[in-house]
Amino acid sequence: MPRVTIARNILAANEEIAADVRRRLAAASVRCINLMSAPGAGKTTLLERSVARLRGQVAIGVIEGDIETSLDAERIEAAGAQVVQINTRGACHLEAHMVRDALEALDLQRLDLLFIENIGNLVCPAAWDLGEDLRAVVVSTSEGDEKPAKYPQMFAAAQVLVINKLDLLPYVDYDLARVRGQALAVNPELRLFSLSCRSGEGLQAWCDWLLQVVHPRKLEGGPGCRCGESSAHPRGHAS
Ligand code: MG
Ligand code: ZN
Repeated sequence: MPRVTIARNILAANEEIAADVRRRLAAASVRCINLMSAPGAGKTTLLERSVARLRGQVAIGVIEGDIETSLDAERIEAAGAQVVQINTRGACHLEAHMVRDALEALDLQRLDLLFIENIGNLVCPAAWDLGEDLRAVVVSTSEGDEKPAKYPQMFAAAQVLVINKLDLLPYVDYDLARVRGQALAVNPELRLFSLSCRSGEGLQAWCDWLLQVVHPRKLEGGPGCRCGESSAHPRGHAS
């Protein structure tokens, strides 16, 4: 099946570039979280709120992936983070080479935490390693409450699930327990956060976890680790 072979080659090439991204981030002691969701779940708003709450404690950078426009990047920049926009011009997921190119526009030595806001899509982003340390999926109560059962690969490949828009619960038929149960059935190791970017409920627990994710040497305020040991950044280290 030639098509399968081609897809494998493309993914193998992506893995190599992702490993290079991972090495460069590790050398600068920058932790990286790949943030994924369907369109409209609130990835950009979650980043805005996180940047604002952690200002002065954690230097956050964002690689903002969108099919078109720099609207989200402008919001992140206004919140006070280093930001790079990637426009995929139609492509429905980010690939590692796009992240590698975006790193050129960031001052990694000045960053503690790098978010990659992926394209709004719960399907193919799950298959593409971007060189991140952790993957976080965002769902929201304005969506259907069957997402983990319908898109299991995304939840299986993540370490963190954020359920956003808790403030809308009184107005929607969204079974929070059902979503949590489905998600944990797919991935029992998943760390769960439920929050509302609008009301602020639950945001502090998420930010406290982000503080744990940051490389300890960065929080001590000591010199950045230049050792380049990828073992210092195991996947899922904070879970
Ligand atoms: Mg966005
Ligand atoms: Zn895609």
